[in-house]
Amino acid sequence: MTYGNTACHVKNRACTAGVSKYNLICAGCSTIYTDDRLKCSNDGALLRTNYSKKHLTLKDVPGMGKFHDWLPIHEIMTTDSGPVTYRSTELAAELGLNNLFISFNGYWPEKGAYIKTCSFKELEAFPTVQKIRGGNRSLVLASAGNTARAFSHVSAMTGAEVYIVVPSSGMSRMWIPEEPTDSIHIIQMGKNCDYTDSIHLAERISALPGMQAEGGARNVARRDGMGTVMLDAAVTMKRMPDHYFQAIGSGTGGIAAWEAALRLCEDGNFGNELPQLHLSQNLPFAPMFNAWKAGRREIIKDIDMPDPKKLIHGMYADILSNREPPYSVAGGVYDALCSTRGSMYGISNSDTKKAQELFERYEGIDIFPPAAVAVASLIEAVNEHKVDADDNILLNITGGGVKRLELDHIIFKIEPESVAENANVPLEEIIRRKVLA
Ligand SMILES: *Cc1c(COP(=O)(O)O)cnc(C)c1O
Repeated sequence: MTYGNTACHVKNRACTAGVSKYNLICAGCSTIYTDDRLKCSNDGALLRTNYSKKHLTLKDVPGMGKFHDWLPIHEIMTTDSGPVTYRSTELAAELGLNNLFISFNGYWPEKGAYIKTCSFKELEAFPTVQKIRGGNRSLVLASAGNTARAFSHVSAMTGAEVYIVVPSSGMSRMWIPEEPTDSIHIIQMGKNCDYTDSIHLAERISALPGMQAEGGARNVARRDGMGTVMLDAAVTMKRMPDHYFQAIGSGTGGIAAWEAALRLCEDGNFGNELPQLHLSQNLPFAPMFNAWKAGRREIIKDIDMPDPKKLIHGMYADILSNREPPYSVAGGVYDALCSTRGSMYGISNSDTKKAQELFERYEGIDIFPPAAVAVASLIEAVNEHKVDADDNILLNITGGGVKRLELDHIIFKIEPESVAENANVPLEEIIRRKVLA
């Protein structure tokens, strides 16, 4: 009886709130779902939001809330956090490009950029936390650093409870621009564990009562939040770019850019040609680059990432180190590359460092190593004539401005609540929580 009532309630909510704004459509078999879920029950493919509004109308708020029409939430966000697109002059001249636009996702108030955890992961955190709020559940996720910071910041701002599993290599990145709150629970992994071990532990924690997995690439609030980079660029450029450059670890941002472009195509006011995706990884760990280069939809572990821990250890931009990216899945990175006639790049550490130096010198703001990988891929594309001087190019600077932030704000370190030696430790040893008692 109770179950029946609950089901009915959920169904009604889907009919009023869900259907009026969006439903979910399977990227593989096109099945439509009116309830919130993470995968298609037929084929396991990614689900994509299908918004009833086909024309983008901007809301009059600062930050990413202006793209409310194409975010899977019902209350308009008023955070000043959001992507900022500007036309490059200095780097553009150096590279001989006439229409280079930069999406800056970090802190740079002189440009109107106010992402205080300094990466585009914040674009994902705000809508995700808002989406599950009211459900009274705690959010569980794994992160190598930037996502953890973004969700911790949103938790501190909203009081939403978050459990975040962080590999020990990511702990130095665990700070936020305000006093940490009790709503933030950080679980640090042991020294020999990497990001993928963190994902596995987070999966176990999220199965506990009262917990909810953030969902990673499968979370449409995450993807559509990251997709605002493409939306902001198209609005600023008054058209979609011809090319989109981004460094990837999971590729979620690349998928998000493609999906946002599909919506812009349907809108019709921004052109009807999808931007080509130029996605880059940092050598020596580059499983998607290797699989794509070999023309494969599948990543073969022994070929594309033999001895992953050693390879990851050799990366300058080590946060780009997801061992299980959504590459093969329908609606994933492989499909995004095929659909946009895209390219992949494998970028060395030395080219990344050179690109970082070049960008900082010409654009005048500090950037994170992954963003420098994208800059290096743009340089490679120019050298190999994959882009023309007059092409409209969008370069996603996925993170930066920490040095700039430190001039304006005090940074607070977040201490771990517990340490897990591996992904299989008993959960009661690491979670201090009433539910477990
Ligand atoms: C997460 C992250 C990336 C990679 O993004 P994905 O599209 O999820 O692979 C790139 N740069 C920075 C700064 C990031 O935090």
